Amino acid sequence: MEYAEVSVNSPVARRQTFSYAVPPNLHIQVGQAVLVPFGDKELQGLVLELTDCPSVSETREIAGVIDPQPLLSTPQVMLARWISEYYLSPLFEAVALMLPPGFKRKLITYLSTPPSPHDQDLSSLSREQRYTLDLLSDKERVSLKELEKSLGKKRAQNLTAQLVRRGLAVRSYELEAVRVRPKLEPYLSLKLSADKVQPEVDRLRKKRAPKQAALLSYLALKARPVAWAEARRETNCSRAIASALASKGLVAIQQVEVRREPFSYHDIPRQEPLSLTAAQKRALEGIKSSLEASASPDTASRVFLLHGVTGSGKTEVYLQALAHAVTLGKKGIVLVPEISLTPQTIERFAARFPHRVAVLHSKLSLGEQFDEWQRIRTGDFDVVIGPRSAVFAPQANLGLIVIDEEHEWTYKQQDTSPRYQTRDVALKLAELTGATVILGSATPDVESFYHAQIGDYQLLELPERVVPDEGSPLPEVEIVDLREELKAGNRSIFSRSLSQAVTRATGNKEQAILFLNRRGGATFIQCRNCGYVLTCRRCAVSLTYHINEDVLVCHQCNYRTAVPQTCPRCLSPRIKFLGTGTQKLEQAARERFPQARLLRWDSDTARGKDAHREILNRFRAHQADILIGTQMVAKGLDLPLVTLVGVVNADISLNLPDFRAGERTFQLLSQVLGRAGRGTPGGKVIIQTYFPEHYAIQAAAKHDYNLFYEQEIGYRRKLHNPPFSRLARLTYSHTSDILCQRGAERMKKRLSEEISSQGIDSLSLIGPAPAFIHRLRGRFRWHLILRGAEPSTFLSRIPLPPGWVVDIDPLGLA
Ligand code: ADP
Ligand code: ZN
Ligand code: ZN
Repeated sequence: MEYAEVSVNSPVARRQTFSYAVPPNLHIQVGQAVLVPFGDKELQGLVLELTDCPSVSETREIAGVIDPQPLLSTPQVMLARWISEYYLSPLFEAVALMLPPGFKRKLITYLSTPPSPHDQDLSSLSREQRYTLDLLSDKERVSLKELEKSLGKKRAQNLTAQLVRRGLAVRSYELEAVRVRPKLEPYLSLKLSADKVQPEVDRLRKKRAPKQAALLSYLALKARPVAWAEARRETNCSRAIASALASKGLVAIQQVEVRREPFSYHDIPRQEPLSLTAAQKRALEGIKSSLEASASPDTASRVFLLHGVTGSGKTEVYLQALAHAVTLGKKGIVLVPEISLTPQTIERFAARFPHRVAVLHSKLSLGEQFDEWQRIRTGDFDVVIGPRSAVFAPQANLGLIVIDEEHEWTYKQQDTSPRYQTRDVALKLAELTGATVILGSATPDVESFYHAQIGDYQLLELPERVVPDEGSPLPEVEIVDLREELKAGNRSIFSRSLSQAVTRATGNKEQAILFLNRRGGATFIQCRNCGYVLTCRRCAVSLTYHINEDVLVCHQCNYRTAVPQTCPRCLSPRIKFLGTGTQKLEQAARERFPQARLLRWDSDTARGKDAHREILNRFRAHQADILIGTQMVAKGLDLPLVTLVGVVNADISLNLPDFRAGERTFQLLSQVLGRAGRGTPGGKVIIQTYFPEHYAIQAAAKHDYNLFYEQEIGYRRKLHNPPFSRLARLTYSHTSDILCQRGAERMKKRLSEEISSQGIDSLSLIGPAPAFIHRLRGRFRWHLILRGAEPSTFLSRIPLPPGWVVDIDPLGLA
């Protein structure tokens, strides 16, 4: 007898598989989707393993197969297991990442009367029970949903449960219909041989049916089935004309499955590889030899960190590495942050690999995603491009995984389980498949760079921009010390320097961007006089100001302190300065630059699917002189008229209550600087700050990654933060703040006891503290941070009560 270990689509299954017997008439493979009995239901499951001995003595049989082909490859099955174990997520949720879009369907519950008549005395039934029974007895079966509509949800559930208990009704289940089906389109084809066409056309003309005649000769000309839409467009005929030909037996109208094309190759001319610069060549050589020696079990020789500023030719290296993989009979996956999934990026790949590029992104309809998935599985594409979820594409023969802008935060799935980091998933997948990985960035994640330094990855440098970009040198950067402004009597949020520069640029009919590097609603208190920010001594992060309670809180350890009356450093009474939002900035700009036309770009003004593009287009068309915005502005495309970028307050991201604040600031500023240099020469960036000497600002202004890295890695080492430790964040939510806090404290006690009883001195607990977003959708949130060598392994042995969420390797503690 053969048995299968199945991951079952049920919340109670958690990280476990269940053993089922394989019935003799079924052929079951690893990676196959099946239907299995589970409790009194039948649920979806995925076969993860086939064995001779089940893990329990009593097994039930697999009920049926959902798809005859395995949906997951063997490496994907192993990857799913790893994700579930490492990120502590339910196993089926990890499996579901790799299933075709739309697969995770719901089960529908049906009720019916039992087949054999009962001999019960119905007079003992309540009126409602009898009414429900009547509803059932008319029909073969009724869905629970329908009953809920007529009886109300709770009542329908109670009443049917009562009837089932008495044997008067039975339940059955069915999977909800597939929401996505292959797209069908009517096609016309000739039903008569070529030599018979002309006589028919003549006959139709004689009978005064010129449109039918025209359509018939058009179809004869094409000599292949033609889409109805195309035929109608070209011959300008109506559906009735086609039907008339069909009813005469001259033409067949058939529904043909067609591909939903997410983009058209129509206008994209084929492009040949460029001849590489010396640095590009060196990088490509290393990658090529790794692709050729893919059997090597040593992952370190197969992971590359490609470090080069924007415009240094990284994408060209990706393209040529992919082309090499293809010549070796392999395929690739290219991951990009969602926001940079622009037509330009896609076109560059499409021009190099015509008709061999699949694009996955969330703006595609479910139907389009489904079609792409099926075609990828069939092996139609050399390259799959997409955001983080594309790492799970069913791309067989995987030779190369590229992660562009590897430092971007969108690579971490934060809001839903599994809370995976795409970079680590890609590395694991590469280990399982023998694929090569390229991590590319202008500002690598400090952790990635550290791994490259100690030899876990191979570092490839592209130190300069490519020649054709000669006209746009890196922009001039000026750092303005805001303390000096106040001393000089300037109380505006615009320094004298920024103010003059904006006036000059707009006066010259050029454009300016005012950038606010704000994320979320971080509120810190800063001395308006000297820039001093209150921080937690223990955690070395900024304290967050809670307006309602008028108190400062550390969001890591819950240290609390009152707002001081005067600045602890300079004794100025102007301590309670709360920073600026985009709206306030817009208002100030309107007053300061009354002649300029303003455009605001933030999540308030850019709602809806195309809002971003519309705002950018308006600005590019010079319908505004000054663009005001947050992060999004930094990702804006090349804007040739922009000669000035003003970073209004660099301290905002610097004071995030998070140990990654310095890194975040460096990345954001570098990105803004990269933009400014792309337009006309002579571009200028002005950074306003109270911390002009801060290493993140200094290094960004000098375009010097190494300067930043050396400082940052020193701090990480000293404070024992990643990469020198790993973190797990445990968040508890509850409708009551005080119960939430107590729950978090109980958990801390429990975990500390566990840590000391197991004698793990490499683990420490920080907190509990209110989460940075303390209240979310009506629930309060407190969190605990576990720091040490292997928090995930430790936590895997501890069942967490409901209400708790674990995030392994969280992005921010904020
Ligand atoms: P990155 O991905 O690092 O931003 P790209 O690969 O996009 O850099 O290159 C920047 C620009 O330089 C692009 O317009 C690209 O076509 C061009 N380019 C890249 N490599 C070469 C090369 N070897 N020769 C000529 N032009 C190149
Ligand atoms: Zn001060
Ligand atoms: Zn603290």
